Parts: sequence; C-alpha cells; structure tokens
Amino acid sequence: MSNAKSLEELEQKQDFIRRHIGPSPAQVSDMLSALEVSSVQELIDQTVPASIRLEQPLTVGESRTEVETLSYLKSVASKNKVFKSYIGQGYHPTNVPHVILRNVLENPGWYTAYTPYQPEIAQGRLESLLNFQTMTLDLTGLDLASASLLDESTAAAEAMGLAKRVSKAKKANAFFIADDVHTQTIDVVTTRAEQFGFEIIVGKAEDAVNHDIFGALFQYPTTSGEVVDITDLIAGVQSKKAIACVAADIMSLLLLKAPGKLGADVVLGSAQRFGVPMGYGGPHAAFFATRDAYKRSLPGRIIGVSKDRLGNDALRMAMQTREQHIRRDKANSNICTAQVLLANMAAFYAVYHGPQGLKTIAQRIHRFADILAAGLKAKGIALKHSTWFDTLTVVSDSKDDVTARAIAKGVNFATNHEGEYSISVSETTTRADITELFDIILGEGHGLSVDAIAADVEANGSESIPASLVRDDEVLTHPNFNSYHSETDMLRYIKRLESKDLSLNHSMISLGSCTMKLNATAEMIPITWPEFANLHPFCPLDQAEGYQIMIGELHDWLVNITGYDAVSLQPNSGAQGEYAGLIAIRKYHESRGDAHRNVCLIPSSAHGTNPASAQMASMKIVVVNCDKNGNVDMADLKAKAEEVSENLSCIMITYPSTHGVYEETIREICDIIHEHGGQVYMDGANMNAQVGVTSPGFIGSDVSHLNLHKTFCIPHGGGGPGVGPIGVKSHLAPFMPNHSVINVPGTNIGNGAVSAAPYGSAAILPISWAYITMMGSEGLKQATEMAIVNANYLTHELSKHFPILYRGRNNRVAHECIVDLRPLKEQSGITEMDVAKRLQDYGFHSPTMSFPVAGTLMIEPTESESKGEIDRFIEAMVSIKGEIEKVISGEWSIENNPLVFAPHTQGDVLGNEWDRAYDRFYAAFPVPAVAKNKFWPTVTRIDDVYGDRNLVCSCPAVETYRD
Ligand SMILES: *Cc1c(COP(=O)(O)O)cnc(C)c1O
Repeated sequence: MSNAKSLEELEQKQDFIRRHIGPSPAQVSDMLSALEVSSVQELIDQTVPASIRLEQPLTVGESRTEVETLSYLKSVASKNKVFKSYIGQGYHPTNVPHVILRNVLENPGWYTAYTPYQPEIAQGRLESLLNFQTMTLDLTGLDLASASLLDESTAAAEAMGLAKRVSKAKKANAFFIADDVHTQTIDVVTTRAEQFGFEIIVGKAEDAVNHDIFGALFQYPTTSGEVVDITDLIAGVQSKKAIACVAADIMSLLLLKAPGKLGADVVLGSAQRFGVPMGYGGPHAAFFATRDAYKRSLPGRIIGVSKDRLGNDALRMAMQTREQHIRRDKANSNICTAQVLLANMAAFYAVYHGPQGLKTIAQRIHRFADILAAGLKAKGIALKHSTWFDTLTVVSDSKDDVTARAIAKGVNFATNHEGEYSISVSETTTRADITELFDIILGEGHGLSVDAIAADVEANGSESIPASLVRDDEVLTHPNFNSYHSETDMLRYIKRLESKDLSLNHSMISLGSCTMKLNATAEMIPITWPEFANLHPFCPLDQAEGYQIMIGELHDWLVNITGYDAVSLQPNSGAQGEYAGLIAIRKYHESRGDAHRNVCLIPSSAHGTNPASAQMASMKIVVVNCDKNGNVDMADLKAKAEEVSENLSCIMITYPSTHGVYEETIREICDIIHEHGGQVYMDGANMNAQVGVTSPGFIGSDVSHLNLHKTFCIPHGGGGPGVGPIGVKSHLAPFMPNHSVINVPGTNIGNGAVSAAPYGSAAILPISWAYITMMGSEGLKQATEMAIVNANYLTHELSKHFPILYRGRNNRVAHECIVDLRPLKEQSGITEMDVAKRLQDYGFHSPTMSFPVAGTLMIEPTESESKGEIDRFIEAMVSIKGEIEKVISGEWSIENNPLVFAPHTQGDVLGNEWDRAYDRFYAAFPVPAVAKNKFWPTVTRIDDVYGDRNLVCSCPAVETYRD
C-alpha cells in the first residue's frame, strides 16, 4: 500500500517530546492565532534578539523513547558494583521502609510540591517538617532546630558562620576543627573559612582550649568511631567565650547522651541513615539545632506554629525576615532550595519506628559492633579505641591484605587513614555479615561463633559506651512518634498529610523563576534502582563505573547546552552553585595577582541568593539600578563599573532577566564588565528560556549555575532536593571544586570542596540525564520555544485585564511575565496577598508573589502545561479581577468579600454562622471548573505575626490535640 505510514512514523520517535510538551498541535495553533503570528518561529524571531541566537543546533543526540532510555540506562547502572559498605564516615546503608519508599519518595504528591510559601495548602509537609524539627530537638538536646540544611559538611560550615556571628570572642578570627572530624567536613569548612577570611586550626580535640578561637567543631562519635565524653572540651571552648559545635551521628544519639545536654551550643549532622539511601553521596537532609538565644542567627528555614484566622493551630515558615530574600547581603545563609523531601523521609522513618523501634535499631547496630570487637580482640587484633557506637578502627600492618580480601568478597572498609582501616556496621548488617567480617579479617578457619560471642557479650555486658554517656532521658514522646507503627496506620498518616498539600499532580504551579515543569515518571524510575541508590560516595572509583558514565554524558551535554567548556556537578543547590562559581572567579583573580578585585555588581532585580552568595565569598556588593522598562540601567552600569574598575571582580546577572525579558544589551553588559577586567556570572535559573535557542557561553558570560531542579526536571520535592552545577569557560575550569577524599578530575588538586560528596546529590542526576536523552537536541529546543509560546499566550490573555509590568522587543515576554496588581490595590485595598490566597479557592497555587517587584505576581507556565490548564488559570485570574471590581464599586465592602476571607476551608463555609456578603457556594466554587476538581485548603489564612511573636518550632504539646 503506497499510503502506509513509514516504519519510522509508526515507531513514533518523537513519542516522549509530545508527552513532555503540554499543548497539542491544535492548541499551539490556537495560541499562535491569538498572538497573531503564523508560526512558532515567527514568535521566536519577534522575541529573542537575533544577536544572541545560536547558529548551530545542540548536539546532545536524537530523542529516544522512554523504553529505550531506561533500558540503556539500566545497562549503564549495572556497571556499578553494589558492595556491602562498612565505610561509614557519615554515610550508612539503611533499610528504607517500603511504605515510605513508595508513598513518599516515589509519590508525585510528595515530590512535585514546592517550598511551602503558601502554607494553607502545604500543611502536610509542614507537619512532617515539624516532626523533623521535633526529632532534631529531642535527639540533640537543644531548643531550636531548622527544617534541613544541604548536608552535614555544609551544616558544619553554617555552624562556623553562626559561631562568628554570636560569639562574644569578638577579636578571635580562628575556628578550631578537631582532627577526628570527618575529612570531607574539614574540607568544606576550610573552603568556607578561606572565603570569609577566617583561620582554620585543625588539631587534637583537647588542644582547642589552647587557641584564640570564636568556635570549635567536634565529632561525636569521632570519624574513627571513638565515643568521647566531650563535656570538658565543650566547657573549655566556652571558657574562651567561643561557641562549641558538635557534628553528631543521628543513630548513635538514641543511645548516647544528647550533645546539648553535654553543653554544646550547636549540634548538627546528617539524617541520611534514618531511611534515606546513600545514593553515591546524596541528596540527604542535614539537621541543625542551637540555643533559643541564637534564633536570629540560625541558618536555613524554620517551621513554626501559628494560628489561622479562626484561631486554629496552623503551620508556616517562621521568621522569614532572616532569610536571603529579605536580608540579601545581610542574610544568615544563601540557602533557598534545601532538602525537604529527604527531611520528610527521615521524619517519617522516626514516626514509623517510634522511639522504641529506633532504640532497638540502634541497640542492634551497637550489639553487632560489640560482637565484632569481642571476636577480634579474642584473636589478638588491636583496636584503636576502647569505646565505640558502630565503628571499629583497626591498627594493622596487614591493612592491604585485609582490604584486598574484603574487596574480593564484595565488601568495602574505610581505608583513607595510614596504617588503619575502619568498619562501620549499620541497620542492614546481619549475623552472617559479622561472620563474613571475621573471615575477611582473620582468614577462614578462625573458629569464632557469632552466637557464642553474642551470648558472652549479653552475659557480661559491655563498656564500649562510657557510663557517663549512656542516654537516660526519654525521646520522641510526642504522639506523632507513637501512633503510626502498623503499616495501615502509617500509610494513612502519609496519605492524610499528602492530601493537605497542593502539588503538580493537582494543578499548574506557575511560580515564576521556579520552572515547575513536568517531572516525568520515566525520569524518576532510575533513582530508586539499587545500582544507583546503594553506593557509598567514597567507594573505590572502579565500583562506580556506571555513575561515571552517566555523569560523564550529562557533563558533556551540559557543556554543549551552556556553551561552556567544563561543568562541576558538586553544588547541591542553585545558591551553592553561585557560591562555587564566585569562588572560581576569586581564585582566578588571585592566580593573576588580582587578589584585590572584590567588588560584585548586582542589578536591583536580582534573586536574594545572589547578594547572599557574594557575601559568603566576602565580596563587596554594589547595586546597579534598573530603568523604567525593567532593564539594567546602562548608564548606571557604566558609571559603577568605571568607579570600581580596579577592584571589579564580577557582575551577577540573570538572563533572561527576572523581569521576564531578553535584555537586548546583554552582550554589551558582558563587554563592559570584561573591559574593566571583571568576570560575568550569569545566574542560570532562567535557562528554560535559553536551552537550544541561545546559551550563556555564546552570549559571552564566564560562569553560570544551572538549576537542574528547574530547567532539567528534577522535582522540587516540596523545597528540595536540587542540583546546582556550574558551567565555566576554560580559564575558570582549574578553579572548580575538588574533594579531599575522592579526587574530581580536571580541577586543581588543592581546591576545596563545597559539598560533602564529590558529585553532590549524585542520586538524582539520572533524572536530568533521562530528560535530555528522551528530548534530544530537537526536543530541548522545542521545550524552550513552547515555554515562550505558553508565556506569551498567557501574557496576551491576561493583559486584557491586568497591566503587564515589563515587556521586551515587539511587546513580547520571555518564558514568564509579571502582572502588576498595584493599580487595583490602590483602587480597592485588595492586596496581592488576598489574590494569592483567593487563587487557592480556585484550586491554584499562587504565582511568585512580590518578587522581583513588590505588589506583583510573576507567572511562569512552562512548556508542560496545556492550553486547557492555562485557560483555567486565566479564567480564575479574570474572575478574581471581577471580584476586586465589586469591591471597587462598593457592592462588597473591603472587610466583607471573598478575597479578604480567602482561603475558605470546609469548616468555614459549612459553619453554623454565615454573615458574609457572598454565599457559601460561591466562596468554594466560584467558577464551574472548580467543582470538577475541588482542592480544599485545610486551614484559613495564617497569622504570620502571631507565629513570629510566639515562636514554637516543635510539635505542639499534647493538650492542643484534645479539642
Ligand atoms: C531559584 C533561583 C536561585 C536559587 O536557586 P536554589 O536552587 O533555590 O538555591 C537563584 N537565582 C534565581 C533567579 C532563581 O530563580
């Protein structure tokens, strides 16, 4: 038959592209007609300046189907050798409870949500994060906890920052790190200190007191496993008016006295071994706790308890004024994306096991360590320490033989200290494993019986935990940790919380600058494959060949997409990428004898992490104005560049700008900076408007971070994880982060690390890898083009009802737009907050509010939303405009209208009293589309001021559950 389709057509090579891109071809042509253009190309020509358009297509390959992609990736993953890991050093094998694996980690209801900026539709993950904080407080013995930091080592660096801010030893400029702290932590803290200009002293823990310091860091138990009573060390540090920080193992804290009770001022650590896979280094959540007195100095987010409009308890992010969005260059940290999904997993692990279950797990681990130690000692093997929780260090002449025997049996020990090796047992260790360890260390035929030694240890007791350090207080007494221990109860608890949260599996989340696009299921599948999930980050490189191949391919594709020469995948958020990029710039200047170049120009429209990161790199920030069209004011830029010329380090500029337009002068901006000897840092958060169409390297910038959790489909996880790789031109490549345990090829050996693991959050890189594979060069470009089509269609329709703040050439916008609500607010008294809350009644998450301009909404639909969904959003916005008009006309008073009472809960509209100017049905179902898919906020509007005045950052007391 001559009219039959070709095999190629039947195979539908483009299969995935059309699934990732929301609008159908018919919808695209409808949108193009509305925009009065005849093709996508015509719109792109009108929108993107010709001078920055790529001449060559991307070369990341042709799009591959989901099935092909996963089958190839499986073959790559199977090159990883999943050895039994006894490496420890902050990473341990764990049994992820399956009910958590499937219903949290693998569940889009949990992984596609955003940071809980709209708390009324985020009470589920806020409760879980409050559980995380409560667990942190109980285990650390301190008063105030945050809701996750990026990893243990960066948490330690944050502790140093806090110590400097609050220590009364104002003249001191040195921070002490005990030499038995994890190697990677010493590395990351040293990198940070170098940037701040602090001196780092590494020495024997007992020597801390002999130095002029503002703070000190101890590890508890130490990296080689010793359990030391640090009470006197802490007191010694504090006698110098310095701050005592302790990095603790979370599992050990079930059995060991809380460091807070030993006097520590700050306690931090990784929550990984509470049910989060090692994942070749991450992502994992770090916990962080300190004294109440230091609350204004605490890095990262805090979840607090407040009240809603009806007086019910309601949760929200507390004290946001400490954060980088408000305080910018005065911020306590540059942490924006954190590790919410992983913090939730760890909290659920504690909820599921409860205090008794956790204690049993910890005791079992400890018992195995005791048995192993008793057997080895019986055979004359010398142990380095006489105390331990889970880690034994053997001092040995035959280290090489032992480790070779271990490797031959598929077992890894920690071997990075001269003349010793360490063995950390974990939750996954069994009796058979202990026998195998005896076989490896002693050679077969040793005659030891685990059962016999166990009986012995039980009969005689153990002194491996010093009596003074045995934990004797109750932990996790709150009902949330004592109610859900059957799988049925747990499943329903997880579901109950999930149902309170609006995620991408409910409706579009058009947060401008956050790029909430599809996180395809096929992209998510590989992350829980054991070949990716169960590798220790410090395993020998030849066991991680699959990872190296996948990372290598992703690296090369990102090089191609960004137009740079090299990429580092180590930073685990966009802001960490900024920090790593600025360090590279600084080291580059230093290498040329330009150490004095320390001024960073930042346009006023910049994201708050930009100045916060510049401050972390000890740069002096000079703000450049924007003109009335939202573009960088070129005259101001020239004047300021001129003024600081000799000391100019760099500019940080976002492209397309946070005002949603492709600035025409971007090449000129790069030239001006370069003429003055500066470097251009292009914030790549908006890469979704560049991929395949233009690129930072092509435009002329020197370094950028990408947000793989925006443009490249890693889900936002409710506020993390993320990956913030940096791309650089070749002159900056030698200055990218390295790692002191695992050398990262291509960068200078002496470069410090910015993350605990050499490849940061390696376990989620398969998501971006799969996205690029399935889209191919052509699909990626189409995604960018469709993001521009969707944004312009949305802008065009909304502009009939609202002023659009900024536009670029031909009146077009890039991939997002800013709707100006200020004129309506002036006429009606209805605020942007009222609009954001009312959108919840319509089933939508608010767009980004009041960034980068107060009183506005920044809307980014992305390429993944269909025209149908965009039209529903437009319908909601137009209907809300109608409601505001009724306030303006006086039909509704400013005190009594559906906007100021938004959002409406079931309890509110079904209550016995109803004295509103609008009816109950209208409150909840303002347009017919809502009835088909109603989402009920579970609390009414939350009082932020009350919550900050009455800060409570742990689960509310039991009494409050009674009514
Ligand atoms: C999201 C964002 C950042 C920060 O990235 P994180 O991954 O959240 O740290 C920086 N700049 C801009 C413009 C952003 O939108």
